[in-house]
Amino acid sequence: MVDYLKKDIATALGNPNLHTALGNFADDYVKSREKAYASRDFQALRQKVKAVKSSAAERMHELAKQFTARVEERGGKVYLARDAQAAVDYIIRLAKEKGVQTVVKSKSMASEEIHLNHHLQAQGIEAFETDLGEWIIQLCKQRPSHMVMPAIHMTRQQVAEVFSRATGQELPPDISRLVKVARENLRQKFLRADMGISGANIAIAETGTLVLLTNEGNARLVTTLPPIHVAVVGLEKLVASLQDALPIIEALPRSATGQQITSYVTMITGPVPAAGLDGTERPKEFHVVLLNNGRTGLRDDPEFKEALQCIRCASCLNVCPVYRLIGGHVFGDVYTGGIGTILTAFLGQNQEKAARLQTLCIQCGRCREFCPGLVDISGLLEKLRQRTQSQNKPGLAQRLVLEKVLGNRQLFHRLLRTAAAAQKPFVQGGMVRHLPLFLAGLTKEKSLPALAGRPLRERTKELARPQGKPRARVAFFAGCLTDFIYPQIGIATSRVLAALQMEMFFPLEQTCCGYPAGEAGFTDTFRRIARQNIAVFQQANADYIITPCPTCAAAWKKLYPQLLAEDADWATKANLLAQRVYDFSTFIMEQGGEALMRGCHPSGQTVTYHDSCHMKRTLGVFAAPRQLLNAAGYQLAEMRFSDVCCGFGGSYSLQYPELSAGMLQKKLQWIGESGAGIVATDCPGCTMQISGGLDRAGLPVKALHTAELLAKAIERS
Ligand code: SF4
Repeated sequence: MVDYLKKDIATALGNPNLHTALGNFADDYVKSREKAYASRDFQALRQKVKAVKSSAAERMHELAKQFTARVEERGGKVYLARDAQAAVDYIIRLAKEKGVQTVVKSKSMASEEIHLNHHLQAQGIEAFETDLGEWIIQLCKQRPSHMVMPAIHMTRQQVAEVFSRATGQELPPDISRLVKVARENLRQKFLRADMGISGANIAIAETGTLVLLTNEGNARLVTTLPPIHVAVVGLEKLVASLQDALPIIEALPRSATGQQITSYVTMITGPVPAAGLDGTERPKEFHVVLLNNGRTGLRDDPEFKEALQCIRCASCLNVCPVYRLIGGHVFGDVYTGGIGTILTAFLGQNQEKAARLQTLCIQCGRCREFCPGLVDISGLLEKLRQRTQSQNKPGLAQRLVLEKVLGNRQLFHRLLRTAAAAQKPFVQGGMVRHLPLFLAGLTKEKSLPALAGRPLRERTKELARPQGKPRARVAFFAGCLTDFIYPQIGIATSRVLAALQMEMFFPLEQTCCGYPAGEAGFTDTFRRIARQNIAVFQQANADYIITPCPTCAAAWKKLYPQLLAEDADWATKANLLAQRVYDFSTFIMEQGGEALMRGCHPSGQTVTYHDSCHMKRTLGVFAAPRQLLNAAGYQLAEMRFSDVCCGFGGSYSLQYPELSAGMLQKKLQWIGESGAGIVATDCPGCTMQISGGLDRAGLPVKALHTAELLAKAIERS
């Protein structure tokens, strides 16, 4: 299944036009969106959008009834289509009854969902897309690669070639000229069309009004010129009132295209008379096809119903580091990106494709930060992963590693020690730069750090101790990378704690936090590991538990209590310990570390900070490490997009090394632009990814954990 996807990924990664088009847009989008929201409280607005959409989803049938009554009072017709076939049948029947030969369409994802153009053509009815992007796509016989900008994957040079072929003239890649050509071509089609088909962004139940937010004006022509207007509208577009439509009208253009408002905001309430070619009015037929096609199933699924809060702005695609590399023809079906994967599962009823697509999500969670509907897109994908994993039998190798090895501490640690001995012929300067045979791919795009000669668990005597009586005992949860690859991060942490008069110790029975097993859908193994670690740290009876890994911190603080929620005894233990668990920087800040660091001699070194996804978005920590580094006398130089994923993603970098490398290349570019000689991060996984990329690229920049930099500052003093 994944091999098939890999072929598509390789093709997309090898397409320079795609990179230029998507990369340029992604770089500009964040700025224009920020500007559009400058005078708005985004957090308050997204709460309103969520409230409106979730309440409308609960009342879907009631609102559909009310909407139908209002439209019919005005002389329109509403058809509730239970699925795609019913919607298509209604439209074809209507077209045949009315002798329709030509249809003009404005942009409508719902009509894409039911593959309407294909069905119309099969009946001999000509259908012309009139949105510029959709027209380009239609001419190329492709499907949209983005929910708002269907042809975003194409450069203007490519569009000029397509238009030249379609018109028989040699056209330059000049946007205004191309738009003019499109307008001239499409105008005749509007005038002779028998039917106009549109979608709608919002359907207001109290008045029976459709709201369309557009930039090109073609939707107005589609909905007014032809004598029949059919709107294909998903049930999730219903809201109760005009008042409820307002937060969506406010958020949609800002999040979609970084505009305060679209060029046209069209409200259609009932049939509006059409204008004949001779200028006289002719009566208008107005039909609304309210499309269910899996929406009520989504609403009734308690784990996934929040997907109905989506307003289809596509912001989640615009900020997705994976989408940026491969676009929507690979990462998507009719609907694209992360939210598109959820919609593919429920609206497209294509579970198999959704199961395949969800593996593309690296779980960085950036989409969640930008979503105006407050949809936890990556969280939903994680749930979809768990569902599809429990339905699909995992491979033997995966089961062996995650169930038998990870779940067995002694075996796991013994294997790591064996690997440390076996790697020796390949290690040079602490890095593995080439691996043989089937392992060669692992070092293709980056060097790997060597496993430590002695893991931290064998170096506990080197942990620093405070002079005099400690004011607190702090248990250290290392996580696999610190224990077996970067023991120096653990030793550095003990030095900072000792300077704060605290004693750090390492409970030897600890093991992996279990996150990789949970991420792969092995929930029982994850739960078993959680219990093991909880038992060990409960016995350690420390005042605090500190970890240098934000993924481990997130597992302890958030996932262990959830995993064990149904077992009262273990849930109590998990919750009590969760309150004592800290990530490194938060703990040091809370314990007076900033004042301590102010007493250190400035290093004169310039540092740029990379926000790990779990640190910033799961734990919400981004200011503390910067404050500490600043206080320790490092010169901070912010890189662009400091919180965009470096491409590590745990097992993701093994499953999709080519995508992981693509994200890493962007990160290295932004680090290089910052001019810093050191990149700091609070995550050993990011340290590993970034230092491997820096080494392979031969860049004179070091990647270090914040703990190491603070310990160095203390040593200097
Ligand atoms: S999930 Fe959120 S960000 Fe993505 S399209 Fe929907 S509303 Fe926009």
